[in-house]
Amino acid sequence: MGRSEILILLKDIGYKPRTFRVEVTPEEMDYRGEYTVVGNANVRITVARVDIGYHLKVEGEVKMRFVCSRCLDEYVETFRFSDENILRRGEYAGDERLKDEDVESIYVERDEVDVLPIIREIFISNLPINPVCSPDCKGICPVCGLKIEDEAEHLHEEVEKTRKLGIFLEKALKEGGKQ
Ligand SMILES: [Zn+2]
Ligand SMILES: [Zn+2]
Repeated sequence: MGRSEILILLKDIGYKPRTFRVEVTPEEMDYRGEYTVVGNANVRITVARVDIGYHLKVEGEVKMRFVCSRCLDEYVETFRFSDENILRRGEYAGDERLKDEDVESIYVERDEVDVLPIIREIFISNLPINPVCSPDCKGICPVCGLKIEDEAEHLHEEVEKTRKLGIFLEKALKEGGKQ
């Protein structure tokens, strides 16, 4: 069984940033999307006190199996995710505004914070919408569906003919015709 929470004690954290390294198993990551987590995520968490609470930075990397949105091949790649948040004590009061509006606030009620849901959320929000196996993947041929990289020189007439007759039949016809 995986851990259900990963707690960091906030009262031990001062203004000097502290770094924690955690390993998150695929089970603990609990991701049920269209790709596959194929290894443990190595996550670095940096926490420091700031005037309004704590600054939390999460940086992780994990091996993932993606499906290329252009050629539909599966490929495994190290996926990196990161984000930062401000942890504030107490409950959300409503209309408070941060100076830096790009940094989201998370409200914590105790002297500790469970970073596992934060890691999961950052992981999911960083996932690519249209992953590609390589930046210059040419995708599949819109006519015949072959992967263009493998069949860069293929001609359409030939492919069409081969598909219609079948390779065996065509061969048989040719050989039969010669004799
Ligand atoms: Zn591709
Ligand atoms: Zn084609």
